[in-house]
Amino acid sequence: MALLKKLILSVITSLAFALCTPFITQASPLAFSTERIAGQDRVETALKISQKGWDSALTVILCEYNDYPDSIAATPFAVNLNAPILLTKGDSIDPRVVKELQRLSPDKVILLGGTACLQPAIEKELEGLSLQWDRIGGIDRYETSVLLAKQLFSDSMILANGDNFPDALSAATFAGIKQIPIILTSTTLPASVIQYYQETAPKHLFVIGGEVVVPTKELTKNNFTIETRLGGYDRYETNAKVVSFMKDTYHSNDLFLASGITFPDAVAGTVLASKSNAPLLLTEKDDIPPAVYSIMREHMKVEPPTQDSNPSNGTNSSLNQGKVTASGGLNLRETPSSTGNVLITIPAAATIDLIEKQDQWYKTTYQSKTGWVSADYLTVTSKMGVISASGGLNLRDTPSSSGSMLVTIPKDTSVELIDQQGQWYKTTYQSKTGWISADYVTLSQTNAEKPTTPATPINLSVNGQVYILGGTGIIGSYAQTIIEGKVSSKYTDNLKTFPSLPSEIKQPTDPSRGDDDITPPADNPPPVTTYDPSKEVLINPFEGIPAQALSGKTIMIDPGHGGPDKGASGPTPTYEKNNTLAIAMALNDTLKQAGATVIFTRDRDVSLCTNTPYSEVEDLQGRVNLANQSKADLFISIHNDASLNTNVQGTSTYYSEDNPKQYESQHLAVSIQSAVIDTIKTNNRGPKQSGFYVLRNTTMPSILLETAFISNPYEEARLQNPTFQKNVAGAIFIGIYNYYKNPLPEA
Ligand SMILES: [Zn+2]
Repeated sequence: MALLKKLILSVITSLAFALCTPFITQASPLAFSTERIAGQDRVETALKISQKGWDSALTVILCEYNDYPDSIAATPFAVNLNAPILLTKGDSIDPRVVKELQRLSPDKVILLGGTACLQPAIEKELEGLSLQWDRIGGIDRYETSVLLAKQLFSDSMILANGDNFPDALSAATFAGIKQIPIILTSTTLPASVIQYYQETAPKHLFVIGGEVVVPTKELTKNNFTIETRLGGYDRYETNAKVVSFMKDTYHSNDLFLASGITFPDAVAGTVLASKSNAPLLLTEKDDIPPAVYSIMREHMKVEPPTQDSNPSNGTNSSLNQGKVTASGGLNLRETPSSTGNVLITIPAAATIDLIEKQDQWYKTTYQSKTGWVSADYLTVTSKMGVISASGGLNLRDTPSSSGSMLVTIPKDTSVELIDQQGQWYKTTYQSKTGWISADYVTLSQTNAEKPTTPATPINLSVNGQVYILGGTGIIGSYAQTIIEGKVSSKYTDNLKTFPSLPSEIKQPTDPSRGDDDITPPADNPPPVTTYDPSKEVLINPFEGIPAQALSGKTIMIDPGHGGPDKGASGPTPTYEKNNTLAIAMALNDTLKQAGATVIFTRDRDVSLCTNTPYSEVEDLQGRVNLANQSKADLFISIHNDASLNTNVQGTSTYYSEDNPKQYESQHLAVSIQSAVIDTIKTNNRGPKQSGFYVLRNTTMPSILLETAFISNPYEEARLQNPTFQKNVAGAIFIGIYNYYKNPLPEA
């Protein structure tokens, strides 16, 4: 799905330390890497969240920055529209927000709340920017939540007290992912809420918070039937209960952390967390409350690290190095522009390898993140080489032995290596710039300040990252270092002995355990950063399979996304919707050759939602309707995965326990996952259970293939390759064939 799923595989030195030092293991069993998404104020934090999650947006939601009651119920609505939530003051649009609107270039801006919060002047300003706007605002927060709910299709309802924010916030990512409306109430039910309940008669009612905030008596008096109540003695325990109860909803190993004291940074973050399929946890400023701490520890997965894409053993091709001169550190950005999303801040005086230069920007990798840094804050030193050829080495005008000779550089001369092309280095000698053969150059160590690698070999890493929403004034550095495992929590409950880290007992070399949290290293692709399309060899999927093997079967192919919904995007950029369609077309050819009848949810670049504004749920429901009406035997949904961490690679196949044919679906998922891994040799992330809309609402055995990560440059390139697309199609066919050949035993 376009929903980002993240698997952070960066090597964390603190974890290796934790595993080797018993005291630290006991004192602080958390060892996540953290990333703070924060601006100078709440307006800027919302902008940072938007920049992190959206390259563009068809719809943007605008809220007044003090007006939590109107925005707190907006998460499922915003997720449905894939719309970032931006904050502004109420009488005019903050200039930084104007800039962000220009970057996102939406078709429409939705103003949340009445004209008392976002004043009519804002409407005028939007019109001045040639932006269409709409307003959703009831007479009070309760009615606003009802108006937002009416934009969704759901047979469920979440009820939370709207007089304070934490309970609704705790349920927000669950509501966002599952597309369940959040209805706000007071201790007495507002008339608008009673009416909504009567009109929609939801099948499932989840109540968030205890008796004090949402009294059962009040609900039963109005004929509300509570299916589940999730409430603790305080906001943190309620938060932990909600996340724990709904943990099957979350497919990410990442977590988002927001303040339980103040709301503004959290609201915008709930949409990003939902998009990322990750839970949102609440915390105090200076420590992690025990209930939340336990959830974080439960959520922490450990696995062998992927190979570093930029190993420090000298095999990388970067030649130049830069030392950060900015005293406050230097931002590593996703794109070579000062508006590019900040991936991480590289500390002052750090030395980094410079891979490539574009205008005033250098490409570099820091802590497994690859991005761009401004050349203005770097002292650049080139790598040096010493000429080893006994008779000296010719400097030529082109990187080729047939290039004209400019001058001969004597043996043992030290030269600056400016660039590299294949086996040739670019250098300057006696004011002449040209190329020398790398075969006769010994690289010299020029970089004494290079970060030293830890003495302890690192063989594990925490799979997952904590995104901290808001600055240190809201969630302090001490709390952050607790999460990183560097200091101890002051709560004695957090000092108890937690179960030992999983990889201490699991052998990663034994893939038969079938634990998808462990990836056998043998399945990892080589640490490639550049893609050679010629390495992709076309397979013959029909080998060993009888002709017309799928004769009589009807298979529905569902290429994910389409039309205005581009799906996830890759760095180049490329778009998921195009890759899924290309694989679907190849699958059509293969299945037809095997005698199957093929039908599509879409066979061109369209959405199944014909209304405006675009609604993801309507699009998905359209696909489900087509499938269920078609009486297809199988439903195959094709997607690309994506992660905020561009190093993550691999393939997953999903099935849903809510599908009426859940066992067949699981069997199909296992069969297809195995055939795909065998064929395209991606990281095996395993068959997985998930409640994806198209999987739980279709009536036939259904799977969803997350082919590979479009967010990873290497897999992005593979996804573009027609040979790869055909091989994926061939593998799906083999998986389907094996599914029929090895049926489930009769119950
Ligand atoms: Zn997708």
